[in-house]
Amino acid sequence: MWGGAESLFLSMVELVWAEMADFFHEDDLVAVLTTQPLDRFLDYKAPEGGCHLGAFVEVPLGPRKVIGVVWGPGQGDFDYAKVRRVIRVLDVAPMRDEMRQFLTRAGDYTLTPLHAMLRLGTRAPGLGDPMSMCKVFRLGDQVPDRITPARSKVLDVLRDYGGLAFTLRELAEMADVTASVVKGLVKLGAVREEDAPRDTPYPMLDPDYASKSLSPDQAGAADTLRAALRSDAYGTTLLKGVTGSGKTEVYLEAVAECLRMGRQALVLLPEIALSGEFIARVEARFGMRPAEWHSGVTVTERRRCWRMVGQGDAQLIVGARSALFLPFQQLGLIVVDEEHDTSYKQEDGVLYNARDMAVLRAAINGAQVVLASATPSLESWANADAGKYKRLVLTSRFGTATLPDMAAIDMRTQDLPGGRWVSPALQSEITKRLENDEQSLIFLNRRGYAPITLCRACGHQIGCDDCDARMVEHRFLKRLMCHQCGATKPMPTTCPSCEAEDRLSAVGPGVERMGEEITALFPDARVAVLSSDLYGSARAMKAHIAEIAAGGMDIIIGTQLVAKGHNFPNLTLVGVIDADLGLQGSDLRAAERTFQLMRQVAGRAGRADKPGTAVLQTYQPEHPVIRAILAGDEEAFWEAEAAERKQAGVPPYGRMAGVILSATDVQAVFDLGTEMARRDGPLRRIGAQVFGPAPAPIARVRGRHRVRLLIKAEKTAALQQALADWVAQFPLRGDLRMAIDIDPQSFY
Ligand code: ADP
Ligand code: ZN
Repeated sequence: MWGGAESLFLSMVELVWAEMADFFHEDDLVAVLTTQPLDRFLDYKAPEGGCHLGAFVEVPLGPRKVIGVVWGPGQGDFDYAKVRRVIRVLDVAPMRDEMRQFLTRAGDYTLTPLHAMLRLGTRAPGLGDPMSMCKVFRLGDQVPDRITPARSKVLDVLRDYGGLAFTLRELAEMADVTASVVKGLVKLGAVREEDAPRDTPYPMLDPDYASKSLSPDQAGAADTLRAALRSDAYGTTLLKGVTGSGKTEVYLEAVAECLRMGRQALVLLPEIALSGEFIARVEARFGMRPAEWHSGVTVTERRRCWRMVGQGDAQLIVGARSALFLPFQQLGLIVVDEEHDTSYKQEDGVLYNARDMAVLRAAINGAQVVLASATPSLESWANADAGKYKRLVLTSRFGTATLPDMAAIDMRTQDLPGGRWVSPALQSEITKRLENDEQSLIFLNRRGYAPITLCRACGHQIGCDDCDARMVEHRFLKRLMCHQCGATKPMPTTCPSCEAEDRLSAVGPGVERMGEEITALFPDARVAVLSSDLYGSARAMKAHIAEIAAGGMDIIIGTQLVAKGHNFPNLTLVGVIDADLGLQGSDLRAAERTFQLMRQVAGRAGRADKPGTAVLQTYQPEHPVIRAILAGDEEAFWEAEAAERKQAGVPPYGRMAGVILSATDVQAVFDLGTEMARRDGPLRRIGAQVFGPAPAPIARVRGRHRVRLLIKAEKTAALQQALADWVAQFPLRGDLRMAIDIDPQSFY
């Protein structure tokens, strides 16, 4: 007979068992992982009072104290008497089992040592500091004998928020009184002053605060996502729909369901799209602001976010890719918005792709993933095609807005003098918009004034002193800039090679130069140039874009910055200066990127009630990519592109890895590269091929020479293990460095 008492007893046994497995008593040996560059766990004795598996601890290491995580029972291969003791357990929630698994598996996948993974998982400022306290104020039990209007305002606020406590500043602000009024009430006992942890829980979001009534299309998609969440199991869904079709609206419904279930949700956005606009939208939907995690967040707020996520007191986090490594307690949903965006790939330090790692993390946590995009990556398209991901498509735009008409301007038929890039056809389109008081966007994916500075006397092109890249003129800053390493120098007046005076000239267009040309063509128009380097801060940039969107400009000239998620309701024309840019080049994803970028840019036009037009200046109107864009035939594009990649055995139908070697001595790098290519036994055993060594596309960065080897393998090959065995044969001497890039995105 199975009944109440018995099952209760069973669950208590389980509890005790869990307790035993997860807890170490004082003097037990524990294995601690620290963020120090060591490739092993260190044994310590558990501290007085014991510690939990996963506890964040401070341990002695040589003469120092470092922070680490209790990863499991100690190995015990040292003299027990000499083993040192954990100094203390930090005042934060222990790392969960899922998180340890996630760091381990993500490290195995990217061939990153575990200590470096732990560093990603402990990016909390002041993690080792004691919990910091502050004064808060709540309703006291005395009634003041004399009540002034200011005093009653304070008491009203405290009564309205029944029982809640506020900092002095918050309370004074909300009651609109000075701090001294509050302090006066404290003296009278009408308000109570208390110590409270400075990091406070985030306010609760209300999943039913303000949901919109959805179109049938949207409602169907939202239902499917809600059902997936309720399954309490892992699953990934590709949510595809043109810009403005309501993808955000739909995935916010999935977030709402996740919150109702009492689980945490994470929305990842490309850093550039993390705007006040988006946060305001979340607040409008759920009544309160979510927690934020990105480079624009203050140190104090980051500390609060990390801790609150860890104790389950932040329900929804909106963040950039590194938010994936926050210590979630019960993660239920990860949304990766603009999933195709290249900024999800971290290209420095640990080389990981946040989109792929989101899927891994969710699989470990039994959580759902939503990948949202108007123009999914071929990887996600292929996964959906193969049935690994569900696919939801929002077909129509919400309301009356429609996709713009698209047309090519065949540049071979346009009469253009040298040094000019706006064709007569494009010019007349802009003129029409000016006459109707509508906005035009001129898109060119090149920052600066001109990509090349050429000496007309000797043919020398000015390059960076430290890299192999050409310097780009930034006339606005009156400097030359290397887009690879960021080095700048003043614009010279004589050629650094032949010393001829005043013979340097700008070749090719950048957005600043387009600004000049457009201003000359339309002297009465209000023209704005949007390029990330023209702003002192991300905030200044966002403010400017908001002002422009509100209609403050007639013609906007921009780089890919403008292709990301901004709304320009009065915009009805998008002109692409060079649609062919990106079709050339050795990058296997060039066609895909061009296709995505063009569609996003085109998606800027006609958002509101006015239809838009997009025109593409091209010298190759019959190129399959250009034709697919114009026809709006995505499936045709994907199928053609998939067929080509299958044929070539490249991702997502084959596997690739890059190995970048670098050193100050060019000979040393090439020697090592050659040696590695020669001793490729471990790779050959799995049927993989090595290409190179070749100079990396940017062959010198910050004075270091870079050489690249590319490895290609079949989809099913055990690539990581083979790579690890292979590179282990070559110890790095001197200042030689090696970086392994699994699934390289950019071929630099
Ligand atoms: P996407 O994420 O696909 O670009 P959004 O979700 O941002 O699309 O929707 C575009 C615009 O249409 C937004 O301003 C949004 O508030 C509005 N919108 C979308 N769906 C609805 C709806 N069902 N009711 C009201 N407004 C909606
Ligand atoms: Zn440089």
